[in-house]
Amino acid sequence: MSKNSFIVRILLGMAISVLFCAYSAEPALARGSWLRQLEMIINSTMNARSAPNTESPDHSGTFNTTGERCAYCHKVISGKKHVLNDEYVCRKCLERHLPKCCCCHRRIKGSYVEYYDGNYCCVKCYGNSELPRCAECNCPVRSAELEGGGYACDRHRPEAICYEDEAYEVWKEVEKAYTEVLGPDFVLDTVPNIHMMTLEELQAKGKNDSRWIKAFSRTKVAGGHYVHDIYVLKGMSPEYLLEQLAHEGAHCWHYENQPYTLSCQPSFKEGFCEWVAFKILDDLDLDKQRERQLNNVDIDYSRGLRDFLRLEEKLGSIEAVLDYMRNNTTL
Ligand SMILES: [Zn+2]
Ligand SMILES: [Zn+2]
Ligand SMILES: [Zn+2]
Ligand SMILES: [Zn+2]
Repeated sequence: MSKNSFIVRILLGMAISVLFCAYSAEPALARGSWLRQLEMIINSTMNARSAPNTESPDHSGTFNTTGERCAYCHKVISGKKHVLNDEYVCRKCLERHLPKCCCCHRRIKGSYVEYYDGNYCCVKCYGNSELPRCAECNCPVRSAELEGGGYACDRHRPEAICYEDEAYEVWKEVEKAYTEVLGPDFVLDTVPNIHMMTLEELQAKGKNDSRWIKAFSRTKVAGGHYVHDIYVLKGMSPEYLLEQLAHEGAHCWHYENQPYTLSCQPSFKEGFCEWVAFKILDDLDLDKQRERQLNNVDIDYSRGLRDFLRLEEKLGSIEAVLDYMRNNTTL
């Protein structure tokens, strides 16, 4: 055993006993074999997404001294010419073609924010922190809560998933993709329990008040078996839910296959799980989502993902990366 892994063992021993002490305070855990009674939470991770970039286009225009024609009505522009989508347009066409705010539905004349998936939002709505956010793209929402709970914008509302039976259907897709993409060894001992939650419920359960939490998972050992619980935000599309479940399922696999997961750095754990989700999204041609993964401002996720893509390149195969995860706790 190397010196490092010995230290890891010691640290892990300490972590377990701390957790065990904390849990043995519960009266129910004081009796019987500790192995059977021990319900130890060994995994709790958050998967969050952050806000988009803001842009401030200038629509004030300049005088048309060069005889430009409007890109929309094709007439020579009299007075000021304005720039819209890199083309010159007249005042009338500018106002007709300005993007509408996804939240208040008014044409946006000034600055706006562009969200993933092409939603535009005026700064007034964007800055209103009282408004709930779309589970899929994070844009502010003024419409009513979804029937099954949670929020989605008009664009993402039709495909929003709020119910657990639908989520288990998506989980089946994840399991199938795991085997196809990552090989027959990438299976879990037990099917995770999936809990669909509103943002408030997710924040309370995860003891995390971030507005951007999408999912987290916990793995316990109970009765000599792993028990996985995945908590996910209501209102995501099937594709986004699939990405989240693929990520959280990878945490579950990691815990089943690497006994020292507790001692891993967040970027190592999250990078691996992002890499697993990335491979699944790649197989399903969900390129936009992969791009979003690479641009996540939480660097534990985006840089961690890039680290694992490099590791895969270095080791030469997916199997080799999985083997690496079984035998290592750091890159
Ligand atoms: Zn025009
Ligand atoms: Zn608005
Ligand atoms: Zn949306
Ligand atoms: Zn994670």
